[in-house]
Parts: sequence; structure tokens; C-alpha cells
Amino acid sequence: MKRRPKPKPKPAPPARRRGREGREQLARRAARIFALLSAEYPGAHCELDFRTPYELLVATILSAQCTDVRVNLVTPAFFARYPTPRSLAQADPAQVEDLIRSTGFFRNKTRSLIGMAQALGESHRGEVPRSMDELRTLPGVGRKTANVILGNAYGINEGVTVDTHVTRLSARLKLSRHSEPEKIERDLMALFPRADWTLLSHLLIWHGRRVCIAQRPKCELCVVNELCPSARAPRIR
Ligand code: SF4
Repeated sequence: MKRRPKPKPKPAPPARRRGREGREQLARRAARIFALLSAEYPGAHCELDFRTPYELLVATILSAQCTDVRVNLVTPAFFARYPTPRSLAQADPAQVEDLIRSTGFFRNKTRSLIGMAQALGESHRGEVPRSMDELRTLPGVGRKTANVILGNAYGINEGVTVDTHVTRLSARLKLSRHSEPEKIERDLMALFPRADWTLLSHLLIWHGRRVCIAQRPKCELCVVNELCPSARAPRIR
């Protein structure tokens, strides 16, 4: 009688398809994602052009609902006209609106910019403050903008900047199951060392702009493909 061949054992499912990931597994995966993205984008940095904390604050306010590329087209003329908070505090709103019109929401942004510059003059001796609490008292400045300023103008890792790219990638990579920026930020702060918070945000934003794009992520080119529970196709090497 012919012997039936023994059935081959099935290969273990990839880590991402196993059951619920434990805290330690998640932390290990997060660290590997960070290492791979760091190697992929060694020069990751804030893509808004600025020379001073004041310029970064203006550029970040302008970047709401607008691309960094568009903001960088507008700011040279803006800073030539309003080089200091003092000059901006005294600006004619109609002239500011004309300069920043192409960034969208230009009336609101004009109010925020002039209000911010006046507040800097009145309460901070014309300097951009270095604390989250003080920054958040300025018109047009929320936690996200304050994180950008602290991390990039002052090198202070106070939190993780959560923008649209960080939100999308945190969900796809299952680093957070939340959709509200504050909760995503809390999850990321718990997963990554404080010293990495500013760079983490740059890495996720760079990857989100270049590979893990919103409409059709390029999973086949993605360096963190094997660590991503949302990968749509294997990586081509
Ligand atoms: S594998 Fe795809 S979905 Fe996952 S991070 Fe990479 S590009 Fe984004």
C-alpha cells in the first residue's frame, strides 16, 4: 500500500497577522520602524524655510491647510516686508492679506499673525517664548504649532507634532488606534524616547509625503513594509 506523504507544517504567520500585539512587541516594532526610517531619511528636517523662531512661527501659522512648498513661496516677500514681530504688529491687515492670500484662509491667518505679533510685543518683549504654556496663549498657536516651534527653533522635545501625515501613518502602522491628535500624540510619546520626538515627526512626515501617500501608498517601495500591518503588497527588493 502506498504511504501518504506527511502534510508539511504550515509556515508561521508573519508577526503582523498574529493576534493582538503586546506592549513589548509594539515597542520593539516601533523602535525598528524608527531605525529603518532614520536610515532611509538621514536628513529629515522641518521643510518650512526659516532663520529665526519668529520666522518659523509665522511659517507654521501659514502652513495650516496649506503645503510647505506654497508657504515657502510666500514667506520671502513676507519677511522682507515684516522682518520682526514689531513690524508685523503694526501691519495693515489688507496688505498682510494680499501677501498671504495664496495660502488659503488668509483672513483668519492675518488676524492670527498680527495678534500673535502684538502679543509677543506686549507680553514677551518681542521674543518667541520657549514654553508650551506661553506659546499656547498666542493667537493662532495650538499644541501642534507649539511643538513645531519648540522642537525645531529651540531643540526642545516637549511633544510630537501630529499633522495629517503623522495621523495617517500612526494609523497604518498601528502605532495608535486613536484618531484625535492629542491621543495619537500621547501614544507616540509613550512609545518613543523623548529625545526622538521631534525627529520622529519629521520621519513620519517625510515617509508620508514620499512613500506612504494618502491615496495610494507605495507599499512595494516601503522600507518598513515587513513591520506594517496595513501593507497592501510585498516590498520589491
Ligand atoms: S507598507 Fe504601505 S501602508 Fe505600510 S507604511 Fe509602508 S507604504 Fe504605508
